[in-house]
Amino acid sequence: MMSREVKVGNTIIGGGNPIAVQTMCDTHTADVEATLAQCREMAQAGVDIIRVTVPGMPEVQAVRRIKEELLRDGITIPLVADIHFSSETALAVVPYVDKIRINPGNFHPDHDKARERFKELIEKCKVFGKPIRIGLNHGSLGRFITEKYGNTPQAMAMAAIEWLDMCVENAFPSVVLSLKASNTIVMTEAYRILAEKMAEKGYDFPFHLGVTEAGNGDSGRIKSCVGISTLLSEGIGDTLRVSLTEDPVNEISIGKYLASRYSGELKSTMKRIRITGREVEAFYDSPDKERLLLDFSCDFGKRLLDKEIDSVRLHSPFGENYDSYLEDELMQACRRRFYKPEYIACPGCGRTMYDLHKALETVKKRTSHLKGMVIAVMGCVVNGPGEMADADWGYVGEGGGKVTIYRKSKPLLRHIPEEEAIDRLLELIEKSEA
Ligand code: SF4
Repeated sequence: MMSREVKVGNTIIGGGNPIAVQTMCDTHTADVEATLAQCREMAQAGVDIIRVTVPGMPEVQAVRRIKEELLRDGITIPLVADIHFSSETALAVVPYVDKIRINPGNFHPDHDKARERFKELIEKCKVFGKPIRIGLNHGSLGRFITEKYGNTPQAMAMAAIEWLDMCVENAFPSVVLSLKASNTIVMTEAYRILAEKMAEKGYDFPFHLGVTEAGNGDSGRIKSCVGISTLLSEGIGDTLRVSLTEDPVNEISIGKYLASRYSGELKSTMKRIRITGREVEAFYDSPDKERLLLDFSCDFGKRLLDKEIDSVRLHSPFGENYDSYLEDELMQACRRRFYKPEYIACPGCGRTMYDLHKALETVKKRTSHLKGMVIAVMGCVVNGPGEMADADWGYVGEGGGKVTIYRKSKPLLRHIPEEEAIDRLLELIEKSEA
C-alpha cells in the first residue's frame, strides 16, 4: 500500500516522494553555537531532516534559537525535537520545531496517564500543524506491552498499533512510525509485522527506518545496510537514518546511498554471480572499498537474513583478505555466524555523558577476544540501559568521568572512574566465566 504524505516543514515524507535522509546532532542542544555549527555541516552534506535532543525546558529555548538562526542563514531543513519521558517538554517545544519524535509509552509509568498525555500532545500538534514520529525501540517498550507479548518484534508492532489507533480515533493523520532495534532480525521482523497489521486496518502511515545502536566503522555500516535495504527492497520505508557512533555527518552519505539505490538511481557494482545450491559466489568491480561494502551488504543482506542462502563468497579488486573480512562481517550482521563480539553502541546525542567514541574504541580493543559476547557501550544512564536490549554486558556513561557497568539489564558496579572501568568490566566477565 502506498503510504500517505506527511509534511515535515518543507519536506514531504511518504506518498512516493523521494526517501528523506535524516541524521541527529550529538552536541549538547543548550550549546546553541556548537549545535548550529553541526547543523550547518549536515546541511552542507545534503541531509534532508535534522534531529536534536530536547531533554528539558532550557533546551526548548535553545531549539527556538537554533531554528531561528538556521532560517536566518537560509537553511530551511526541517528540525525535529527528540523527546524522552517528559510530555511537558514535548508540549512546550511544539511551536518551535517541524516534528516531534516521542515514545508515548515512556510519558508516564502508568499506562492510562501516558495515554492522556499523548492525547494532549496530539491536540497541541493539531493546533500548530506539526507531525509526530512515534519511535519505539526494542528494549524500551513499556511493561504494559512486554507483560503481554514479551520483548519481541510482535510487542513492538502491537505497541505501535495502540498509539496509531489513538491517532486515528483523534483524527490526527500526521504520523510517521519507527520500530528500531540493533538486532537486524528483530528490526526487520518488527517492521514487517507492523506493515501487515497496518494493512489489515487500512492504515497508511509512512515508516522511518533505522538499525539503532549499530555501532561504528564497517560493522555499523553493514548492519544498517542489511536492515534498511531488506525493508526498502520490500517497499517498506519512506525515510531513514543510518545511526553510527561517529561524527553524525558520516551517516549522511550512507543514507543517501541507500535512498538513491532503492529509488532506482544507483546500480550495484556486482558484475557476475555464480549460484551453487544455497551457496553463492559474487564478483565485483567496485571503485573503492566503501562502495563495495555498501553494494555487497545490500545485494546479499536480505538473502542471508531470510536464510534464502547459506553463504556468499566475495571476489573483489581488493584482495582475498579483505574479501573474507567482509564476508565475516556480513554473516555477523545477518546473525548467521559470529566471528567476534557483537557490539551495541548508541550514536550519542545531546544527552551523552562522556567521550562515547573513545569509550567504544577502548572497549572494542580490550574485548576483541570475546567472540559471540554482546557488549553495549551507551552514552547515558537515562536511556542507555533501557535501549541495550540484548546485551550480556553494558558499559554506560554516568557523567562526571564515571561509568556504570551492567550485567544484562542490572547495574553491577556504579560510579567507576572511566580510567578503571574497562579493567573492572574485564574482571567481572572473567569471574562470570570461571
Ligand atoms: S542512549 Fe545514547 S543516543 Fe540514546 S539518549 Fe542516551 S546518549 Fe543519546
